[in-house]
Amino acid sequence: MDINGSRKTLGPIIEIQNLKKYFPLKHSGMWPWSSMNFVKAVDGISFSIQLKEMFGLAGESGCGKSTVGRLILRLIEATSGMVFYKGKEICSLPTSEIRGLRPKMQIVFQDPYASLNPRRTVGDIISDPLVVHTKLSRRERQEKVLEMLEHVGLAKDHYYRYPHEFSGGQRQRIAIGRALILNPDFLVLDEPTSALDVSVQAVIINLILKLKSKLNLSCLFITHDLNLLRFLSDRLAIMYLGEIVELAESKELFEDPLHPYSRALIASIPRPNPIKKSSSKFFLEGEIPSNIDLPSGCRFHTRCPEKLGKKCKTDPPQLIEKDGRWIRCHLYGG
Ligand code: SF4
Repeated sequence: MDINGSRKTLGPIIEIQNLKKYFPLKHSGMWPWSSMNFVKAVDGISFSIQLKEMFGLAGESGCGKSTVGRLILRLIEATSGMVFYKGKEICSLPTSEIRGLRPKMQIVFQDPYASLNPRRTVGDIISDPLVVHTKLSRRERQEKVLEMLEHVGLAKDHYYRYPHEFSGGQRQRIAIGRALILNPDFLVLDEPTSALDVSVQAVIINLILKLKSKLNLSCLFITHDLNLLRFLSDRLAIMYLGEIVELAESKELFEDPLHPYSRALIASIPRPNPIKKSSSKFFLEGEIPSNIDLPSGCRFHTRCPEKLGKKCKTDPPQLIEKDGRWIRCHLYGG
């Protein structure tokens, strides 16, 4: 499944087909095994990411978006489905072959405080992947790390300092440097700014955009902050309870969201002038249901302001194409 609209693309770097991740529940005590014994974190996701594209993946906490990022990189194993990197299926590859792909596919995690070893210097942290994946000498590694420090906006004398000596934004620069040191062509950015102060977020986003362009990166940007993707992403998929509910060009999706969930998320974005009331009637109510005991029919029907009655409660809508966009809703014949 793919949409590219009229936009010229260079071909996919990542393709995902019917990807599923069900986490078994420990000590559930329920027998026989049934769907109730699993958390369906990702439930049949398909999309592709084009070369040099910034692809956004959005949704509320617990919708499965971070799990998708980890599945693509095979940091966790899929229950079923396929992931292709430059045409090569990687879910079925033995671990030894995945190791060979690691330098090309990297991740920046959400929390720069937790993702850096406090006992190691910045130089050691950034050069670790070079130790594991290359045969470079110590001196060559040091040269590369010093170059990378400059790329990510840090000073050369930061090489010998420790993570606790840095601010949140600087730590995320270190994490980005570590992710880029092997010269990857695909980068997963998993909420890379959500642990940072608002003032620092924009600086880190600008750095990511600059490096993406300079290093010809293709990116998957995962976030709950839809407003960020308005400016960042070329295309965007919105997830709800393990499924994609809408996928479109970002501009189209923000200007004219079709799925009731997309409309509600966009309506909830803070407005520059809060006195001027939003004309939208789409506001989200209630909490996201548990993905252990999923709602019947459309998974969004318990919160949908536009539900059609029985059909939405009983029939699961399919993801269908509408005018070059993809949507999962009975309002559009799904
Ligand atoms: Fe709402 Fe029904 Fe569409 Fe689900 S299928 S989003 S409940 S209108």
